[in-house]
Amino acid sequence: MNKKGRLFVVSAPSGAGKTTLCEEIIKRLPGVVRSVSMTTREKRPGEKNGKDYSFISVEEFKKRLKTKEFIEYAKVFGNYYGTPKKFVESNLNKNRDVVLTIDVQGAMQIRKNFKKGCIFIFILPPSIKHLRKRLEKRKTDSTKVINSRLKIAKKELTFLKYYDYEVINDDLKTAFEELKSIFIASRCQRDKN
Ligand code: ADP
Ligand code: 5GP
Repeated sequence: MNKKGRLFVVSAPSGAGKTTLCEEIIKRLPGVVRSVSMTTREKRPGEKNGKDYSFISVEEFKKRLKTKEFIEYAKVFGNYYGTPKKFVESNLNKNRDVVLTIDVQGAMQIRKNFKKGCIFIFILPPSIKHLRKRLEKRKTDSTKVINSRLKIAKKELTFLKYYDYEVINDDLKTAFEELKSIFIASRCQRDKN
């Protein structure tokens, strides 16, 4: 039987906890891999090229865009981000589930082009106030950047209706258990098909 993995598209306003939660999923669930996006944004302290993102120049990004190397891409907070087609397709063909942690614009492109076999999950913070606190605690952005991220967060929340599941990340452990059960239930569904 030639089985294919599933694409899990996870979106959330910046600071809602999608990286923390998805990293835990990948650590704990065998057969799930995370796609490492390409971006033109500056590397933050502590980030590793090839692990957190592949950091490339705008010229390089545009070249790859021309040669259709992305399954989706978007400009977010003034920087380009894209999901590499080759990695995603080769892992799906090896029956691995692939997690994309991408913004709502990219998720809508996947919805349009890949609808079958995709699961769309939106991670929500308990409130905008919590979101501000988390972004401040993360210490990776200036107050100006945090304010603009919060403004965009409110806009992103209007896309919630296009997602299959929503997970509120209040207590981290509870949110993780919910997310894990969505992954497991979706895999069981696939195995039945
Ligand atoms: P995102 O990837 O969505 O931008 P992160 O995973 O980087 O968000 O999380 C933002 C910050 O919030 C990090 O410092 C993280 O440790 C913290 N965080 C994540 N989930 C929770 C939670 N449930 N409660 C409190 N802090 C959290
Ligand atoms: P950050 O720079 O804070 O890591 O991410 C900023 C935003 O870009 C987040 O909403 C994140 O999900 C999104 N993002 C990261 N990689 C991709 C990608 O490959 N495609 C799209 N469309 N968005 C991405």
